[in-house]
Amino acid sequence: MREKVLVTRKLPGSMAEGLRSSFEVVLNPHDRNLTRGELFRMAEGCAGMISLLSDTLDREFIESHPRLKVIANCAVGYNNIDLHAAAERGIVVTNTPGVLTETTADLAWALILALGRRVVESDRYTREGRFGGWAPELFLGTDIYGKTLGIVGLGRIGAAVARRAAGFSMKLIYHSRSRKPELEKALGAGYRELDSLLAEADFISLHTPLDPGTRHLLDRRRISLMKPGSFLINTSRGPLVDEGALVEALASGKLAGAGLDVYENEPELHPGLAGLPNTVLLPHIGSASTETRVKMARMAAENLTAVLTGRTPPNPVPLPE
Ligand code: NAP
Repeated sequence: MREKVLVTRKLPGSMAEGLRSSFEVVLNPHDRNLTRGELFRMAEGCAGMISLLSDTLDREFIESHPRLKVIANCAVGYNNIDLHAAAERGIVVTNTPGVLTETTADLAWALILALGRRVVESDRYTREGRFGGWAPELFLGTDIYGKTLGIVGLGRIGAAVARRAAGFSMKLIYHSRSRKPELEKALGAGYRELDSLLAEADFISLHTPLDPGTRHLLDRRRISLMKPGSFLINTSRGPLVDEGALVEALASGKLAGAGLDVYENEPELHPGLAGLPNTVLLPHIGSASTETRVKMARMAAENLTAVLTGRTPPNPVPLPE
């Protein structure tokens, strides 16, 4: 009898069709995320699932689905999954690292450029028919060229964002859990303690995973340390930042702007955030290029298939300590 697998949402490409040759595939029929009740029901009897970062796979879910052998998350982050509960049940968890690195780095740069040069505000102004001709003080922004970029979390995506800074002759500084001497040399990047980086950088881009150690990494105190007039870019995970404190710092003019792809209580925005002109707010589209999403879906399917056919998956998430 073929094993049953759940794909929690239709994904780009023909991954689901491929899975059908080996498994009985249960596919979310809606063009929306499954509700918690639907998720629980549809995963019943499944040996594997391809999940999204918006699916909360907590202890209750994992313990309610004893047939599960693999959770193949279609994302590099896996903060939506209770790894301890999965490990206790012998469930293999996999992710999709690498294939989305450059695409997400591009988006971080889209935010840096949009913020510095006030692209979104200017676009809105022009569409509203308010453009009355060139003016010497119209939408004055800030140069990106020559400024200091601070990367927090110099992993795959952080390093890809840093590499792009060379084209803008930026000074590079970084903070990460461990120092990276080879990358420091290759990128010309200087290591800083986090508090020092915040005080020095003109643009700060966050690239750590979300885990208990990074939740509110930028809390109220750290936000107060940021250089006046600097910009925050977050394409990692929303809960890294105390969004309430961020809104206050933006509203007071202490920070010049924020470019966010992710939110503390996604998809909700903190009250006041959407009304601030000095923000660029994106709906979590860091990896959203067609090419990358197809690759992610394929990778998740390969991971799932490997586990259910008795092989080692290419991208297992490390077991929790
Ligand atoms: P990665 O290669 O694992 O890099 C993460 C980096 O963060 C590592 O260098 C790690 O340091 C560092 N780090 C971990 N904990 C830290 C801490 N407490 N303080 C400082 N640095 C810390 O991961 P990645 O592939 O670049 O992805 C990063 C994150 O981006 C993912 O976890 C995901 O949440 C997010 N993401 C978002 C989108 C989106 O759609 N917006 C898309 C893709 C990824 P070490 O090297 O020393 O371990």
